[in-house]
Amino acid sequence: MPNRIEHEVRDGVETKRCAGCKDYLPLIQFHPTGTGNTWDGLFAYCIDCTKRRRNDDLRRKSIVQYGHIRRRVERPAYQRKGIELRISREEFVGWYSENYFKNGVVDRIDDKGHYEIGNIHLITPTEHNRKKRKDRLDALGIVETWGRYCYKCEQEKSTDDFYQKKAKVSEWNPLGLSEACSECTRKHRTNYYEEEIGNGQNLQIPQGYRRIYNLLPG
Ligand SMILES: [Zn+2]
Ligand SMILES: [Zn+2]
Repeated sequence: MPNRIEHEVRDGVETKRCAGCKDYLPLIQFHPTGTGNTWDGLFAYCIDCTKRRRNDDLRRKSIVQYGHIRRRVERPAYQRKGIELRISREEFVGWYSENYFKNGVVDRIDDKGHYEIGNIHLITPTEHNRKKRKDRLDALGIVETWGRYCYKCEQEKSTDDFYQKKAKVSEWNPLGLSEACSECTRKHRTNYYEEEIGNGQNLQIPQGYRRIYNLLPG
């Protein structure tokens, strides 16, 4: 908590010192926090500083996202499809800041199109997962007819053969079913935990690392 700085009356007006610009400003220039949240029920930063801080924060977030996309289009899969990043960094910062919402994912409206204004929008993580699953099924030429497809064992199975998770429930996945069937999930879990080290203790090593681990001198 920053030190409490008392309000000061200046020219007959009660003022408060802003933690950002350090100016003493009339109380009206501070957003209320609601009683009990701060000693005077006001934010430490004045409205202008709050806006500037939010813009700075959005700018930082935009640049991170822009970097992700730039690296993504360099991947062979994207290069093969000829998907390009056709937005300058500054253009992207403007677009992203304006459309930002928490956990929004940058998505191309037309999956064969480029990253460019008009073909990008922000979607929720849930919607993003739905699209990813659909793209994957389409790419494999799989049409689910009576059940749910498991990528691990490459079979369509009854929805009863999948674990359900409350956190996964969404409009398009009303049962909250997991990606892999329960049998594959169990197998995966067993493989993950089984590694045993010399002194009889179990060590948790993810599957992909096992081989490297075994090559290490004992
Ligand atoms: Zn200020
Ligand atoms: Zn399976």
